Amino acid sequence: MTRTRTVAFSKNSTNLFFHILTQCNLKCRHCYINPAQHGQNTLPLSTIKAWLEAFAKNSNSKNLIFLGGEPTLHPELAAAVTHARGLGFGSITIDTNGYLFGDILSKVTPAAVDYFSFSLDGATRDTNDRIRGKGSYDTCLAGIRRAIDAGFATSLIYTVSRSNIHELEMMAPLLDNLGVTRFFIQVIGLRGKSALAAGDSQSPESPQVSRSQWLATVPGIARMIAERGLIVTYPKVFLNPAEKFECAGTVADNYFVFPNGRVYRCPLCEDFPVHSLCFAENQLAPTAKLNEQDFFQLDIPEGCVMNKLIQPHNISYNEQGAPEYKIACCLLKEEISGG
Ligand code: SF4
Ligand code: SF4
Repeated sequence: MTRTRTVAFSKNSTNLFFHILTQCNLKCRHCYINPAQHGQNTLPLSTIKAWLEAFAKNSNSKNLIFLGGEPTLHPELAAAVTHARGLGFGSITIDTNGYLFGDILSKVTPAAVDYFSFSLDGATRDTNDRIRGKGSYDTCLAGIRRAIDAGFATSLIYTVSRSNIHELEMMAPLLDNLGVTRFFIQVIGLRGKSALAAGDSQSPESPQVSRSQWLATVPGIARMIAERGLIVTYPKVFLNPAEKFECAGTVADNYFVFPNGRVYRCPLCEDFPVHSLCFAENQLAPTAKLNEQDFFQLDIPEGCVMNKLIQPHNISYNEQGAPEYKIACCLLKEEISGG
């Protein structure tokens, strides 16, 4: 028996996605990091501490995700984790490509880090390494095994694109074999490098899968994997006309922080200078209008405004010109557990 639930947006918890640097050892084909918009600096520990403190107040529950670039390239990551724990962040995750630089597993403890979350984009070496770079498959799998052996809980992120959707099903035995407890399926967004290959989702250049392929593949495989005992999460993406649309920018407390000080509330906005907050001298302040907040207020029949602006080919219309479905907020997830 599995249980599927839509993970509702919560005002009582804060999710802080903290990019502490943009440097990375890999050059993944779909990398969403955009140095022109996100900066190229590595934040000093003193700045990381100050910015964490700015978010540590006024929240019942705080989930912190350290990101990069590759966050384990930051020489002070362990000290940043310790400081965050001291500030009361309820859960701390480190997203990694698996290289686990700086001997990070020996510098933090399972009591301090709730999850190491590994990115893998193929069930086979060929497919993953074509997307993420030669050697990244073996290194990621070895990193997962080392983390589990050291007592850490692990999750795995698989970004679905045209290049790897055919291997999603093959992830089931691999996940069993590895001992990963959570599996996150992502949809490839047209951000960073992917935006360069964007266009019509029917065009062979587009990295995105079609709606029909997504619906025919992802929910069923997610359920099959959950039946094996994992918690599986995937974005809802499409809403029926009768389903309620909500923009996380207006009803939830998510922050996407970049090392140049920009703070976004919506990941689809990250390629544009429309961030709604910004750090200046370690103080978090609202930016001038127009910014992403102005988009969040717009009520359109297609659902997500940013999707309509940057990925309009995701929507189809009936003969009367009305959208046949709505695009959900990219942060709205389905979670399946059971097994
Ligand atoms: S590991 Fe992450 S940050 Fe590094 S290139 Fe790949 S997607 Fe970009
Ligand atoms: S993805 Fe769309 S719905 Fe979600 S926060 Fe951004 S603009 Fe709002």
